[in-house]
Amino acid sequence: MAEVRVRFAPSPTGYLHIGGVRTALFNWLFARHAKGKFILRIEDTDQDRSTEEAIQAILDGMRWVGLDWDEGPFRQTDRMDLYRQQALRLLEQQQAYWCVCTAEELETRRKDAMARGLQPGYDGRCRERGLTNQNGDAALRFKASREGQTVVEDLIKGRVVFENNIVDDLIILRSSGYPTYNFSVVVDDALMGVTHVIRGDDHLNNTPRQIPIFKALGYDVPRFGHLSMIMGADKAKLSKRHGATSILAYKDMGYLPEAMINYLVRLGWSFGDQEIFSLPELIEKFDLAHVQKSAAVFNPEKLQWMNAHYIRHGEPKRLAGLLRPFFGQVGLGEAAGKALDDWLEKLVVALQERSRTFVEMAAAAAPYLQDEIVVEAAAAEKFLTPAIASSLTALTDRLEGTAEFSKAVLEETFKKFLEEEGLKIGQLAQPVRVALTGRAASPGIFEVMDLLGRDRTLSRLRQGTALAARARP
Ligand code: GLU
Repeated sequence: MAEVRVRFAPSPTGYLHIGGVRTALFNWLFARHAKGKFILRIEDTDQDRSTEEAIQAILDGMRWVGLDWDEGPFRQTDRMDLYRQQALRLLEQQQAYWCVCTAEELETRRKDAMARGLQPGYDGRCRERGLTNQNGDAALRFKASREGQTVVEDLIKGRVVFENNIVDDLIILRSSGYPTYNFSVVVDDALMGVTHVIRGDDHLNNTPRQIPIFKALGYDVPRFGHLSMIMGADKAKLSKRHGATSILAYKDMGYLPEAMINYLVRLGWSFGDQEIFSLPELIEKFDLAHVQKSAAVFNPEKLQWMNAHYIRHGEPKRLAGLLRPFFGQVGLGEAAGKALDDWLEKLVVALQERSRTFVEMAAAAAPYLQDEIVVEAAAAEKFLTPAIASSLTALTDRLEGTAEFSKAVLEETFKKFLEEEGLKIGQLAQPVRVALTGRAASPGIFEVMDLLGRDRTLSRLRQGTALAARARP
């Protein structure tokens, strides 16, 4: 069997959309599974809409999620000569012809045809005129066959039949000398040896235009697979209304690339009812047979759940490095700047169970980074009461006397203290937690003490005790 060769061919006209990343991912997995090649091709021939920033965003986004390419990134604007050569070849073979109809003329005729209930496509006026491109302002059109059908055995949608009489003679080279999308895409897919074109089904209608061009140029026609679109919960095409759609926006919101990959693969592909997949597992299991025909629904809560899973199971050292840039976003940049890597790793271990994103994790780190904490009123009212003040004082004295301020020693000291005082853990743990963090929910109190260190633990306990003593009974 010939080597599998697939490509991701984004147009750099904006940020990299998560729908685009899903298309790239399915191609990438298909290639990796088959031990084939994944090609990255930037389709930047639309001069008005393509930007360098968008190209950079595509590369950054692809790198962030780890979709590496074997060939490329190619840029179509570097390949203009190839398109011209191939277009002129069609002209020589009399499968293309020059057309001098102006945009205004075409528009008038189009409206006229519509008014008379006819096809609005090009009417073929220049087809038999044998024009040359004397003034350099003619466009080159492909002579499309009007007879018969074009059949696409789509790898996802199944057999799709197009009547050729609906396809008009499309422009392949504009008068500016630039190729049109439908032409450059065929030339590239052919010359790059693409065996499978896997793309969004917004391109399905282009396929019957592209197949005859492959044939006219004498190249093998690749297999096609068209992915159904992604929509929001309201069944409308996914857009900003449904939340962020730029892949890099998710990086900034504190998502992990592996969570994005795992979430996106499930938007349209399934393996039984399994939800969590490692990358090697995806490479092993991915196939087009289990890509669904119907549209997939984007669900931000599920994505968040997925991210929480990967944060919970992430390696603390790596997560700590990824967490750092998020402190600035929650106003803790300066305080966190001084935090040592080892300490940050401990912080991650303490917080990874309960953070859905890095933004949440950074915000939850406030009590451990700031010198002063704000004690939440409701938590203080409930747990820092006069009745507990004397126990808190005694506990603080006891902790102050420990030779070593480690989690194990603290826990042992605390338990002994409870026993001696005849207190239950619940009676003292919550007041201690509120005194130390200002909040009623936090990681385990010994982890908290360990993170805070001796001085801050003792001074917060004393402050909390003072609050308790002053509170209304
Ligand atoms: N450049 C096209 C796009 O971004 C994709 C072309 C293709 O996959 O055939 O929509």
